[in-house]
Amino acid sequence: MFGFSFAKLLLVAAVIAAVWYGYRWWQRVQKVTRDEAEALSRQRARAADGEEMVKCASCDTYLSPRAARSCGRTDCPYPG
Ligand SMILES: [Zn+2]
Repeated sequence: MFGFSFAKLLLVAAVIAAVWYGYRWWQRVQKVTRDEAEALSRQRARAADGEEMVKCASCDTYLSPRAARSCGRTDCPYPG
């Protein structure tokens, strides 16, 4: 009777341990996937910024060429 109960207890403990380690493993996989996705999107955002920003020659500010506006100086190359 005791032997049977102990074996059952061990089995339950083994199942709990398996579920726990499986859960931990799954969380690690999810975190790595999420971190990689974040790193990739940050990298893309940085690359896009580098491509899109242009420096105004007269006022030394960085602007997006699509949204470039005059800073108010008469020698600013962008339309006001
Ligand atoms: Zn300017």
